[in-house]
Amino acid sequence: MKDNCIFCKIINNEIPCNKIYEDDKVLVFLDLNQDCVGHSLIIPKEHFVTLEDLDNELINHIMMVAVKMSKLFKERLGNDGLTLLQNNGLGQEVKHYHLHLLPKYENKVNLTVDEILDKLK
Ligand code: 5GP
Ligand code: ZN
Repeated sequence: MKDNCIFCKIINNEIPCNKIYEDDKVLVFLDLNQDCVGHSLIIPKEHFVTLEDLDNELINHIMMVAVKMSKLFKERLGNDGLTLLQNNGLGQEVKHYHLHLLPKYENKVNLTVDEILDKLK
């Protein structure tokens, strides 16, 4: 837990989030910004800043969870593609490692956060 880290506070339940998946190493939740329906973040439960701070086991685990989420989104949200994005240093707003999952749709989809959560339950 790092003081003043918003994502550590989410892990610690000090700030609420819309959780999609959790295990002993990571948490997956909806990004506040839902421009892309289902936009989610995978974060490690331990505080790391950039890609270079993660060990291989955690990198593998995060990618395995990304695959799991990819299958879940395709099945439940019906997205046609999925973009993974991850900022390090410049351009990284939150300095706690996070992998963005951005579902892409051929046709525009409008769903409320509650509807997204309901589909992903
Ligand atoms: P970055 O630019 O660091 O790669 O992305 C940070 C992301 O975190 C942004 O997409 C932003 O919307 C998201 N974000 C920032 N604060 C919060 C928060 O308190 N809750 C959630 N769910 N997302 C957040
Ligand atoms: Zn943190």
